[in-house]
Amino acid sequence: MPTYADLVKPELLTQPVYQPGKPIDDVARELGLDPDTILKLASNENPLGASPKAIAAAKAAVDQMQLYPDGGCYALKQVLGAKFELDPEQFIIGNGSNEVLELLGHAFIDKGDEAVMGKGAFIVYKLVTLLFGGTPIEISMVDYRHDLEAMASAVTDRTKIVFLPCPDNPSGTANSESDVLAFINSLPEDVIFVFDEAYAEYQDKTIDLRPLIQSGRKVVCTRTFSKIHGLAGLRIGYGYAAAELIQLLNRAREPFNANSVAQAAAIAALQDESFVEQCRFANQAGLAQLQTGFESLNLEYIESAANFVTVNVQDGQAAFAALQRDGVIVRPLAPYGMPEWIRVSVGKPEENERALASLNSFLNS
Ligand SMILES: *Cc1c(COP(=O)(O)O)cnc(C)c1O
Repeated sequence: MPTYADLVKPELLTQPVYQPGKPIDDVARELGLDPDTILKLASNENPLGASPKAIAAAKAAVDQMQLYPDGGCYALKQVLGAKFELDPEQFIIGNGSNEVLELLGHAFIDKGDEAVMGKGAFIVYKLVTLLFGGTPIEISMVDYRHDLEAMASAVTDRTKIVFLPCPDNPSGTANSESDVLAFINSLPEDVIFVFDEAYAEYQDKTIDLRPLIQSGRKVVCTRTFSKIHGLAGLRIGYGYAAAELIQLLNRAREPFNANSVAQAAAIAALQDESFVEQCRFANQAGLAQLQTGFESLNLEYIESAANFVTVNVQDGQAAFAALQRDGVIVRPLAPYGMPEWIRVSVGKPEENERALASLNSFLNS
């Protein structure tokens, strides 16, 4: 009898699997801890939760959950269009921005195609490229920052997509606006530039690629409700680009990919600008707290523009295990080729303190 492995598409047998931040319940089960005492600083979630208005909107939407969602996400696209001063037809809504990245792979990457990305950048770019039979071209970073010149040189006539997160995850670094604009302008006109803005709302000033989109450059920006908006569990994100591209992506999209509770919460979250502002300020204080803490522990860290800090603890796996025994979940970075490092998401002040204290006892053990 053949096994399923004999029948499956051969590429899938070598497809790497995404390793998510460890869930609280897994750690509680494995270590016999009370889940309520566990602190997760492993997936860059918002320690302040979601806007109370988003929570209320989600609860109200639950009352209608026997109905299919609006597959076209009309209301959410109206709000996005007004906010970005773009046509609502220029937005695609995804089950997380991860799905938008996957739709780009679906639509554009075929066997033999290449996609250029930073080595050690957010791993989903590589997974999506491999999933559709493409070849990831991974370019080493310099000082943990994307090397835009080397990435430009790696573009060939087989390149379909170039991925750039800004700020990057897990390094937390951000390329400058002038460097990014010069980079995009140096790309051939038939290469699609994907700008992953998962952490854009944490910036005082974001890099505005709308003029390039409107002028017809092949630029797609992706954003998420998982990070500053605190809706990671609902899985909703979006992309904005030329309406022509959005229409093509819609052909590859399943009809009801964004659920009704997520759509309602996302609208309310976008409209609660003061909550977003409050989270941005709290994050700046939390970043400073973690970075000052790492300095006093004499640890090398990468200056972050996002809501996490990546820090060199000599043995990331050992630190991860030790902190986990104290009920603090962080992210070991061996899967990103950084075995000495861990990534710590910004929590509330007392949570950051707890992570630093746990790290201190690990270092002294
Ligand atoms: C978290 C993250 C995403 C978004 O994830 P979704 O939850 O799927 O929206 C995208 N890119 C980067 C770099 C991220 O860190």
